[in-house]
Amino acid sequence: MSKVFVLDIYKRPLDPIHPAQARLLLRNKKAAVFKRFPFTIILKKLIVKFPEPLRIKFDPGAKTTGIAIVNDLTGEIVFAAELQHRGFAIRESLTSRRQLRRGRRARKTRYRKPRFVNRKGSDGWLAPSLMSRVENIETWFYKLRALAPIKFVSVELVRFDTQLMQNPEIQGKEYQQGTLAGYETREYLLEKFGRKCAYCDKQNVPLQIEHIHPRSKGGSNRISNLTLSCEKCNVKKGTTNIRDFLKKDPSKLEKILRESKKPLADTAAVNATRWKVYEIFKNSLLPVETGSGGLTKFNRSQQGLEKTHWIDAACVGKSTPEKLTVRLRSPLALSEAEGLIIQGVKPLLITANGHGNRQMCGTDKFGFPSRHRTKKQIHFGFQTGDIIKAVVTSGKKVGKYVGRVSCRATGSFDIATKAGRIAGISYKYCSAIHKKDGYSYGA
Ligand SMILES: [Zn+2]
Repeated sequence: MSKVFVLDIYKRPLDPIHPAQARLLLRNKKAAVFKRFPFTIILKKLIVKFPEPLRIKFDPGAKTTGIAIVNDLTGEIVFAAELQHRGFAIRESLTSRRQLRRGRRARKTRYRKPRFVNRKGSDGWLAPSLMSRVENIETWFYKLRALAPIKFVSVELVRFDTQLMQNPEIQGKEYQQGTLAGYETREYLLEKFGRKCAYCDKQNVPLQIEHIHPRSKGGSNRISNLTLSCEKCNVKKGTTNIRDFLKKDPSKLEKILRESKKPLADTAAVNATRWKVYEIFKNSLLPVETGSGGLTKFNRSQQGLEKTHWIDAACVGKSTPEKLTVRLRSPLALSEAEGLIIQGVKPLLITANGHGNRQMCGTDKFGFPSRHRTKKQIHFGFQTGDIIKAVVTSGKKVGKYVGRVSCRATGSFDIATKAGRIAGISYKYCSAIHKKDGYSYGA
């Protein structure tokens, strides 16, 4: 559970509060629920108070993006979320659309000149599946900014900081773990050697930093003399020269020697998606801080935190507090000894689902039109995807149901509740809790 967002009567964000406090305000009718996901309340009386500035932090990922809102002064994680992107769904639906259109064109129609050659993509074009990730992040940045007093942004932009590795002053064992430069070096090597043992190609095993030309024989600590190997190979190689060690495999020897000399281009370290995300934050006119993946990992392991997307997000950048609080303290607790610091921060799980499609005509498995749809999406004020509460007072299905609704023109809806699907609930019993916004929410 994270803290609850609070708005004043003019919908300006105030300091987020503990859920217990929010419950109290709601019970005493001093506030009303403004939004269910993320949970936000709106006060009924004007109060004049300047909220403490917060920092929003992002760790953009291919499948999941971690989001954290942190109070830099107290080190408290006010809010955490994990945003699941759509990824392959977009590619699949574009492929399906392309195939349908191709099928249509190939049927009994007149010849049409190819038109794709006179189209030009704009500069900075990204594939739709990648752009969707960027837009998901943008959406949530602006959504959260409207709910919390966010004054700073941090984002993980690069995997590793090449500047920091230019002249590493660290020695021997420190390379393994422990220092920031060590972490950056590790991330760099992981990327360069494809996350596998350089000698036996084993993946998904703990990898150690290896000196290609052994230290004991005058090998340097420079990045060009380092590679990654599994423990077994590392021990086996020991202080033998690489030329002797790989005597039986000259092609691998040549490959390692060649790759170690080759510098990894800076561009490979920053991907296009992250740049786009960075531009969005820049355009918001808030001060943006960027961090590297090595620094994130360093910050996280310094505090002994586990690896999750939202904790990674909280650890992005140099501004990360010395001690992040991953537990919420109840405002009703008098002392820590009372044991009321019970609930840890739980991330809001957000899944991007898109807004449906515009396809008006469904096809059978051969691609022939078989069913048609109307343009009308809103029926009796509801649309498929709304989260609703239905209180049925008469008939066979008396009871209370909460869940995602599937609407029908007849006004007889289906509700997907936690216990299962309930069919045939009249719109008359329904009230919306959270309107469809293209996302679904977990615990
Ligand atoms: Zn190995």
